[in-house]
Order: sequence, then structure tokens, then C-alpha cells
Amino acid sequence: MKVTATAICGSDLHMYAGYIAGMVKGDILGHEFMGEVVEVGPRVSRLAIGDRVVVPFPIACGECFYCKLGLWSLCDNSNPNAALLEDADGYAGAGLYGHSQLYGGFAGGQAEYVRVPYADVGPLKVPDQLKDEQVLFLSDILPTGYQAAEHCNIHAGDVVAVWGCGPVGLFALKSARLLGAERVIAIDRVTERLAMARSFADAETIDEREHPDVVEELKLRTAGRGPDSCIDAVGMEAQPPGSERTHEKALQATRVASDRAGALRQILLACRKGGTVSIVGVYSGIVDRLPFGAAFSKNLTLKMGQCHAHRYMKPLLARIQRGEIDPAAIITHRLPLERAPEGYRTFRDKKDGCVKVVLYPDGSRLAA
Ligand code: NAD
Ligand code: ZN
Repeated sequence: MKVTATAICGSDLHMYAGYIAGMVKGDILGHEFMGEVVEVGPRVSRLAIGDRVVVPFPIACGECFYCKLGLWSLCDNSNPNAALLEDADGYAGAGLYGHSQLYGGFAGGQAEYVRVPYADVGPLKVPDQLKDEQVLFLSDILPTGYQAAEHCNIHAGDVVAVWGCGPVGLFALKSARLLGAERVIAIDRVTERLAMARSFADAETIDEREHPDVVEELKLRTAGRGPDSCIDAVGMEAQPPGSERTHEKALQATRVASDRAGALRQILLACRKGGTVSIVGVYSGIVDRLPFGAAFSKNLTLKMGQCHAHRYMKPLLARIQRGEIDPAAIITHRLPLERAPEGYRTFRDKKDGCVKVVLYPDGSRLAA
């Protein structure tokens, strides 16, 4: 494929920071991309040269036990380096574009061209009328936010709280609304992102700088019960609470701990009895000091994992076409591909109001 548009994701930041094992020099990142088919392999029958497609970030064969169950991100056949993950975790998930050697070492889409395996299974053809920016996020963050909300099994009247107002959290908030939540509450500490949660998803917000005791603040806003569902859209680089900041960051920086799980710890304490915790932020290892006893005694339901993006692409494309969601609204930065290093720094540091960066291999498209 010739890549026409690609984006930087919070998952790329975990690799950029060096927190994901199995990166080697020369690895090409990028798992959110779309473009034009320029060549097809002999066994590809659904795609032709010239087709415009968006590609889901997990690579799935479409034929194994897991693919047949619709559990695309758990494909048994697409990760040629499965043994590496099996050694660490006892099993392996699907191969992922641009996600280190552990996930197959596939060259990613932050590039001019990209090879797309199992091309009859993943890529979705997109209608000409829709611009790249309207459909690009079907590759990952829109399905991921949607799956996070779907996992909450939302009922009328529900209150859904979302930790993290990055791109994934914003789509989780919006999806929770689409799925019928009465109130959505967004938690973060970045002014522009909280503002976007309000404007994009009509969310109530909790700025952790003003309310360091998030659990207590949520109780106050939910008749003392806590939210019905809580979504973790932060993951392994959560900003720890003040008193633990130096300690937690030092543990992760020295690789003594794989994950900083401050958001998840709050979530397990905040969720109401009998509620659901939905985790889409990525974790990579053994997480200590989780209040598991509280989770157990509250009968919490826990759902988590990499998104089965394939499952959601068509229905979400239909929602975009019906005008129910405008994914492009979260884009704050557009850059030519060669300025990706600057894009990474700005996104990581949340500078200049940055929420989502889209990169264009052909810089002339920036003006379009
Ligand atoms: P991001 O880094 O832009 O957003 C994370 C947000 O969390 C930031 O706004 C940050 O300020 C906020 N945050 C940090 N610590 C916090 C805390 N203690 N409490 C509340 N908020 C806090 O990243 P993103 O692109 O939105 O991705 C979010 C997570 O989702 C990442 O871990 C990413 O790897 C993961 N992800 C998972 C999947 C999947 O399939 N499961 C897909 C895409 C992304
Ligand atoms: Zn992503």
C-alpha cells in the first residue's frame, strides 16, 4: 500500500519511551494508517490495485479458532515471533503493525509504503466521499474507544467514568454516550484535553490537579455509590499521585517495575459495587499493589485487552456516514512524515494543545 495518512498513538509512546521489550534498531512504527493499494499478492481476491483502504492494527488470518470467534486481536497464526511472547506470557496474541519484535516485527505504517499481510481479511474499502481524516481512526482508536464502552454493558441511566482524555479516552467517552450512558465523567490533568472531553463528548470533567482525591470526588457526584462503569484509557504510563511520583517513575525507568498503574488502582477503588471495569490502556507486565481485595468484595466485572478492531470497522463507518461521530474533530496537529520526530515529542509532552497527530507521507496533501 501507498500510505496516504498515518497517525501517532499512545501505544507508540510506550515503545518510544522504551517500555516495550523487543524493539530493535530500524524497527518502523505506525499501526494507524490508510492508503492506496499499489500491488496485490497472488492469493488476494477482495482487493485490487487502486482501492482506497483503511487497515486495522491487529493482523488476523481469518481462519484460526480465535478469528472464527471474532477475537481478531488474538489470532493464532499472524505472529511469526509468537514464541517470544509465549516465553513471557505463556501465550501470544496477534501480530501487530509496528509493535516491536514481540508482536511479529511487522514494519509499520509511519512510512511511504507498507506491506499488508492477510489482505483479504483486514483492510476496509472506504467510500470516495469520505476524506482520509474522517476514516483514518477506524484503524485503531475509534474501535478501541468503542470496544471499551461496549465492554461496560451500558444501561439507561448509567454513569460511565473514563480515566484519560487522550484520543482513546475521548472516543470511549463519545461511544459511551452513543451506547446510551446518561452521564459520562472524564478524568485527566491536561486543560485542553478536559476541554475537548466537554466539547466532543459532552462530558463532565474532573481535573486531578483540583481534585487529587478522585475516588472521593466521584462518590460525591454519584450519590455515594461510584460510577456504574469505569474505563482505563491511560495504561502503563499513568501519572502517579504526588506522594508516589518519584518512587513510581524511578521503578519504571530502572525497569524494576514494568507499569505505572496509578489510574487502574483508583479505578478499582472508585467503581461501584457490582460495576464493570473496562481496561484499554496497555499494560505490559506484573502490576503490584492493585487493590484486588476491594475488586473482589465489590463483585466487579473486569474486561480488557487489545481491540478486535476488525469487528467494529464497518458499523463505525456507518455511524460516521450517518453523522453520529466526527472522528476528525480530535486532530490538532498535521505534519509531513519527515517531521514525525517533532510530532512524537509534541504528542508525548502534550505541548501546544496536542491531542492527535496525523502524518502525511506526501506533504502536498496537507493543504488538501
Ligand atoms: P495518550 O497518552 O494521549 O492519553 C493518555 C491520557 O491519560 C493523557 O491525556 C494523560 O494526561 C492521562 N493520564 C495520565 N495519568 C493519568 C491518571 N493517573 N489519571 C487520569 N488520566 C491520566 O494516549 P492514547 O492514544 O489516548 O492511548 C491511551 C492508552 O490506550 C495507551 O495506553 C495506549 O497504549 C492504549 N491503547 C490501547 C489499545 C487497545 O487496543 N487496547 C489501542 C490503542 C491505544
Ligand atoms: Zn494505536
